[in-house]
Amino acid sequence: MAINLAYIAACLLFILGIKKLNKPDTARQGNFLSSLGALVGVVAIFFENEVVQSWNNAHSWLHNGILWVVVAMLIGAIIGAIWSKVVKMTGMPELVALYNGFGGLATAFVAISQFMYLYIVWAGRSEGGGPIVMFSIGITVFIGAIAFTGSMLAWGKLAEKVTGSAVVFPGQKAINLILVLGALAAIVVLVLPNVDPATKTTAVIALTAISLILGFTLVLPIGGGDMPVVISLINSLTGLAVAMAGFVVSNTMLIVSGALVGASGMILTLIMCKAMNRSIGNLLFSGFGAAATQSTKGPGAEPKAVSAEDAYMVLEAAQSVVFVPGYGMAVAQAQHVVKELAEKLEANGAEVNFAIHPVAGRMPGHMNVLLAEADIPYEQLKTMDEINPLLPTQDVAIIIGANDVVNPAAETDTSSPIYGMPIIKAHEVKTVFVLKRGKGRGFSGIENELFSMPNTLMIYGDAKATISSLSKEFSGD
Ligand code: NDP
Repeated sequence: MAINLAYIAACLLFILGIKKLNKPDTARQGNFLSSLGALVGVVAIFFENEVVQSWNNAHSWLHNGILWVVVAMLIGAIIGAIWSKVVKMTGMPELVALYNGFGGLATAFVAISQFMYLYIVWAGRSEGGGPIVMFSIGITVFIGAIAFTGSMLAWGKLAEKVTGSAVVFPGQKAINLILVLGALAAIVVLVLPNVDPATKTTAVIALTAISLILGFTLVLPIGGGDMPVVISLINSLTGLAVAMAGFVVSNTMLIVSGALVGASGMILTLIMCKAMNRSIGNLLFSGFGAAATQSTKGPGAEPKAVSAEDAYMVLEAAQSVVFVPGYGMAVAQAQHVVKELAEKLEANGAEVNFAIHPVAGRMPGHMNVLLAEADIPYEQLKTMDEINPLLPTQDVAIIIGANDVVNPAAETDTSSPIYGMPIIKAHEVKTVFVLKRGKGRGFSGIENELFSMPNTLMIYGDAKATISSLSKEFSGD
């Protein structure tokens, strides 16, 4: 009874935690509540009858499985704690990819070990598993193994350990289809009654091997830049695998928490796809990263460059300023100096806002996290839909290392790979300053005509250095 109550409490904490993640000012609390839920769930499991019995029945510490689980948890907790301290914000998608991958592997192991108990360790003493359990084992191995190798490849692409481009070869889709059919056949063998344990064992081995290969072949044709969305999709799949593992080991909390991860991962994936105006099918099968490097339009007129001192003259007279942060702000870690400049602009009488594009940066909420870290008031953060109608009335836009999310080609050039993606219409602001290091392209690899528009002025250099110079101009240093 107490254990079931603990499971319900854990599930409620997960739901409450996810709800609080919805808003930047409650997100930290949300994270804390969800972690607390996980802790309550893990502790409760140790008081399950079977676990207590297996602890008591162990012949020696070497045979005490629970002890090894605790040791593994401690090692994992130490690695996780150190890693979360040292990881850079820009490296977050890689870290999440690794977590997802190992989550998938762990669930596949849970299913395989349950299979081994049913057919090998308890051979002769057990009837094997019923169809629901065997189906759950099959699907858990299938999704868990795909999530593992898929995430590893996604991590490799993001960390540039392997080529980030989409790798496409003839017959790829046919090979994937054959692999999926092979995996389904193995799951059918697992579910069918009256199949001998040796054949079922062969089916599990084949299913594991096929699914591991499928993880690679499915992610191979996806461009490195699309990896954050793929990771979110795999995250959702891992959740599904966890929920299925819950059926395998009859644990309600696993089913509920897995379903929550599955659903929230899928919602996030769809939000990201919508913000890029792409379907999941287009993302998975179009080889976007490969095509993106072939730019469609040329650069047009040469952009006009100005110094920070020149820009100050305009900023000093501005009544309204909109910052448009992008991936470059994350690279430069410019958020703290941005806050400093924003405060000086406000002290000078300007109204200051921040325009946040849903896919600016390299992960969902990337800009919100950075700006929150610098304590920029939440009410100054405006969504794309809130800020766009105001832009024609604004005096200055300062684009900090953003490129694709302000590229007018998304609205005007039907041949552009980003055509149809909603953008922050910074080009409608009276004067636009673009802060970037040089002529580097954005994630989609295409030119940006905004840079050569008559109202745009480039300030070349690292964003942090440029913002600091602008800020110094205000202090008169
Ligand atoms: P982009 O990747 O389009 O552009 C970033 C720009 O920052 C580059 O042009 C680069 O130019 C500049 N830059 C890099 N380092 C610095 C620096 N230290 N100082 C100043 N500038 C710098 O970024 P956006 O944020 O505009 O767009 C994000 C892109 O990522 C979109 O295409 C989106 O679809 C994609 N994406 C986003 C995801 C998300 O969840 N947020 C997920 C998947 C993809 P230069 O080299 O000249 O300095």
